[in-house]
Amino acid sequence: MLTMKDIIRDGHPTLREKANEVKLPLSNEDKETLKAMREFLINSQDDEISKRYGLRSGVGLAAPQINVAKRMIAVYLPDDGNGKSYDYMLVNPKIMSHSIQEAYLPTGEGCLSVDENIPGLVHRHHRVTIKAKDIDGNDINLRLKGYPAIVFQHEIDHLNGVMFYDHIDKDHPLQPHPDAVEV
Ligand SMILES: [Zn+2]
Repeated sequence: MLTMKDIIRDGHPTLREKANEVKLPLSNEDKETLKAMREFLINSQDDEISKRYGLRSGVGLAAPQINVAKRMIAVYLPDDGNGKSYDYMLVNPKIMSHSIQEAYLPTGEGCLSVDENIPGLVHRHHRVTIKAKDIDGNDINLRLKGYPAIVFQHEIDHLNGVMFYDHIDKDHPLQPHPDAVEV
């Protein structure tokens, strides 16, 4: 199983690379990697297991965060606050369209690869549509808004070498953009 020692931290060069497209059909190794990423998220949200292994709780993980420079992400979000759950392992995810309207979390964002708390608002698209393949090579099409949209955008950013704090306005870190939605 993956633990915190498998997760590379801010400053590691892989976090700043553009990750490679994954060849389909997925190799067994890639499948195992993706399943282990999902399992980490589930474990990290389990009180007992997370305490025993010292796991920080997370709802998303991108392969570059375990030093695998491939375009794969896992999201495990049992409750988005609106009674919806999200449990996805995505291969080669791509944002196909997005709203002009922005959204942000009032408390900012965190990341399993960033140990310190970095204050500041991260403005993202309020709505996105995403196209990807699942672990078996089937087409996945997602329409997301609000919190899950933010989570998926955070993870897809990792595939492009982008960290959440890159989006924070240096001069006005806590100033919401006009018309942006607080999530
Ligand atoms: Zn992250």
